[in-house]
Amino acid sequence: MSKEKFPEFVELIKNKGKLFGPVKQKEKYSYEEIKDYSELDFDFQRTIISPKKFITPAKYTTLRFVKFGQTEVLPDDEPQIVMGVHPCDIHAIKILDRLFLGNIKDPYYAKRRENLIIIGHSCLPDDKCVCQSTGTDMVEDGFDLFLTELDDFYLLWVGSDKGLGIAIEAENLLEENVSEEEIQEYVRWQQERSSMFTTSIPSYKYLADIIHLNYDSEVWEQFGEKCLSCGTCSLVCPTCNCFHVDDKIMMNAEEGIRERMLDSCTLPYYSMVAGNHDFRPDRTARLKLYYTHKLKEYIGRWGQPSCVGCGRCIAYCPVDINVITVSNALFEEVCETQEVCDQ
Ligand code: SF4
Ligand code: SF4
Repeated sequence: MSKEKFPEFVELIKNKGKLFGPVKQKEKYSYEEIKDYSELDFDFQRTIISPKKFITPAKYTTLRFVKFGQTEVLPDDEPQIVMGVHPCDIHAIKILDRLFLGNIKDPYYAKRRENLIIIGHSCLPDDKCVCQSTGTDMVEDGFDLFLTELDDFYLLWVGSDKGLGIAIEAENLLEENVSEEEIQEYVRWQQERSSMFTTSIPSYKYLADIIHLNYDSEVWEQFGEKCLSCGTCSLVCPTCNCFHVDDKIMMNAEEGIRERMLDSCTLPYYSMVAGNHDFRPDRTARLKLYYTHKLKEYIGRWGQPSCVGCGRCIAYCPVDINVITVSNALFEEVCETQEVCDQ
């Protein structure tokens, strides 16, 4: 699709539901509702909150109840379209799909997911992107459409029946034949992008083993002392999905609502159970849970880590605890010589 056709393409997509896309505000990016294509700004590496906010919102009501009855509150039917989703965040949605649409289907997630159209967009890395290490810098499925932006045109990839339907509708905006020259431009762009990654996670392939073999590492204590238990890392991480459920009774004691809200294993009381027993009263134990779950336990259950290398923990943890500093410290602790560490 030539770039000139892009505004028309956005107009066509807007007819499918409520459109959201990346918008720049005070040097930061977030997915906001788009009224006009000119509000879209694709020149970004990461939004503060990932598109998980469209499928697992930070807080929502699931039930309204009165003294002798209750009504379930399901998300409404309006389709939501999110444009500008990067490969790492699409991988994160695939991880969430496996969790929430597996053997036990979460009805709230399922409804939102069914009504979500994902239009991916290519990106270039900065020094916080570690998706090349996690193998999530490219994506082949999990989207409806994906736009790879080249000099004068977009390559439009179709990833689902919904996406195909849109592509068919947009037929007069698209060129079916991709020339040899355009293919070469795409290959050059991919090679250049690949060489732009400057940050990687050391020993990523066997990091899970290092965590396992050195389970009582002192590294956790050091990070635990620094951690503020603020929960930012979970809020921004596109794969963090823990939630808690709260029943609120109104003042008249006759009615109430049930709310579900995002939680974080780094917060105090996260592991508190009946009888006031807290399994992880200290920050060290909670932080260790966060990173061992992401980088080790998850692999045992699903065959891949639940870090997609988006760099948000690197950008937003106020005390510099993130997937790089943690894995570096774990790795350096076990490598005998600087020479081995540097490999
Ligand atoms: S690791 Fe960082 S972002 Fe996460 S809770 Fe601790 S201080 Fe906050
Ligand atoms: S752990 Fe950090 S880099 Fe990995 S997915 Fe979560 S926020 Fe992104």
